[in-house]
Amino acid sequence: MQVTHTFDVIIAGCGPTGAMLAAELRLHDVRVLVLEEETEPVSFVRIVGLHIRSLELMAMRGLLERVVRHGRKRPAGGFFAAIPKPAPEGLDSAYAYLLGIPQPVIVHLLEEHAIELGAQVRRGCAVARFEQDDEGVTVELADGERLRTRYLVGCDGARSTVRKLLGVGFPGEPARKDTLMGEMKVGVPQEEIAAKVTEVSETPFWLRPFGEGVYSVVVPAAGVSDRAEPPTLADFQQQLRAIAGTDFGVHSPRWLSRFGDATRLAERYRVGRVLLAGDAAHIHPPIGGQGLNLGVQDAFNLGWKLAAQVRGWAPETLLDTYQAERRPVAEDVLDNTRAQKELLSAEPGPRAVRRLLIELMDFDEVNRHLIEKITAIGIRYDFGEGPDLVGRRLRDIDVKQGRLYGLLHRGRGLLLDRTERLTAGGWSDRVDHLADPTAGLGVPGVLLRPDGHVAWVGDDQQALDEHLARWFGKPAG
Ligand SMILES: Cc1cc2nc3c(=O)[nH]c(=O)nc-3n(C[C@H](O)[C@H](O)[C@H](O)COP(=O)(O)OP(=O)(O)OC[C@H]3O[C@@H](n4cnc5c(N)ncnc54)[C@H](O)[C@@H]3O)c2cc1C
Repeated sequence: MQVTHTFDVIIAGCGPTGAMLAAELRLHDVRVLVLEEETEPVSFVRIVGLHIRSLELMAMRGLLERVVRHGRKRPAGGFFAAIPKPAPEGLDSAYAYLLGIPQPVIVHLLEEHAIELGAQVRRGCAVARFEQDDEGVTVELADGERLRTRYLVGCDGARSTVRKLLGVGFPGEPARKDTLMGEMKVGVPQEEIAAKVTEVSETPFWLRPFGEGVYSVVVPAAGVSDRAEPPTLADFQQQLRAIAGTDFGVHSPRWLSRFGDATRLAERYRVGRVLLAGDAAHIHPPIGGQGLNLGVQDAFNLGWKLAAQVRGWAPETLLDTYQAERRPVAEDVLDNTRAQKELLSAEPGPRAVRRLLIELMDFDEVNRHLIEKITAIGIRYDFGEGPDLVGRRLRDIDVKQGRLYGLLHRGRGLLLDRTERLTAGGWSDRVDHLADPTAGLGVPGVLLRPDGHVAWVGDDQQALDEHLARWFGKPAG
């Protein structure tokens, strides 16, 4: 069979990670094709929370207002192991809240954004096989069609075909329990449900009204399953009867799904011209609501680097910094969910540790540390020796032209210069320059990467040039 089209990047999977990555690549005119196995957008109404760092990413690309319109703002605190402590005062962000938003909505908004920027999305197309060589990757779809691309990124979720075909190990802890989750109608009054939920306190399950007589039903599964296909209504009825003594007359499901509590991390994020991002690279139980956030942030880190590689200006090691920066972040998220899982256990030992942690969280620094972890604003990438600000993201601040994040919509680097003496010189085709002596920064000059992380601080042009070359390659001309 013939190879039909050529692309710069093919993305397998149009979940939140794939859609975000496609949009980031299009900011740099990269020819992107997203292949999505499902013919229709996902309908599971998982209400997810966009944490502070993800809201900042939305602001950096001009998407925040669009996203906020579809969500509900909630306080940022109370997420670490569901310990109900309010967030400490003065979190270092202009967007210090959590946005509750259904996952299908956020996926739709990101996909729409990617398409507006020129990405192609083809649904009903599953990546089945691929082969890579020195120049590119030949991707074969389930129906046998073959496409050629320079790079392939697996954003194809926890059971990633791309990761499996690459032979990349996915070590960790297997699922010990599965949970059934779905939306359906019930045949009994609300009071009867509430009474039963209070009566059966040892085994957590819930039925919450969702409007129009439909309930969101969550109940532990009978066992662990690696089946890709969703559970049946009979599975829900059987489990409700086993746990609550009644199936509440559940009927007419809108959708049914199952999720496990496995924790796994890919051994590598890149093999040659093929990369992994999102759930394809890491999975963990949904405690603290971090998975989607982590995947979208992977995409934000990878997008400009892969674009630089395609456009030909990437320094030799730039693409490898994706794994070097993002894998330790995922390791940390996996660890904090392991810790949260223990803290939610009903055993006496973990309950004592939980009580102790609740006391410790009265100390502002402890509470702040945990919130900065969950919301991902505490991340500092390892860029080597340098002031504490280097490697961290910069909060949104007022600048003479409005807001700092407003200057990052095009996904370019930014030199923010209070000295009015610095220049982006031969990098000005990739890096914008804003001379603003009034900018509310504690340092004379800052070089920001397109993902908003601080690459350099100071006032010395020669040192700045070295860092421009490190992140943005050779100067033009
Ligand atoms: C109950 C529950 C609650 C959660 N709550 C939160 C929360 O509050 N906050 C949070 O941040 N995260 C939460 N998560 C986690 C979040 O849902 C995932 O981390 C997120 O969906 C990962 O996004 P992704 O794009 O990497 O993968 P996915 O969303 O799994 O998307 C992968 C896509 O790839 C497609 N695909 C698969 N194979 C192929 C193939 N071979 N070819 C082409 N396409 C393919 C799939 O159809 C799918 O559309 C929750 C998860 C669960 C189960």
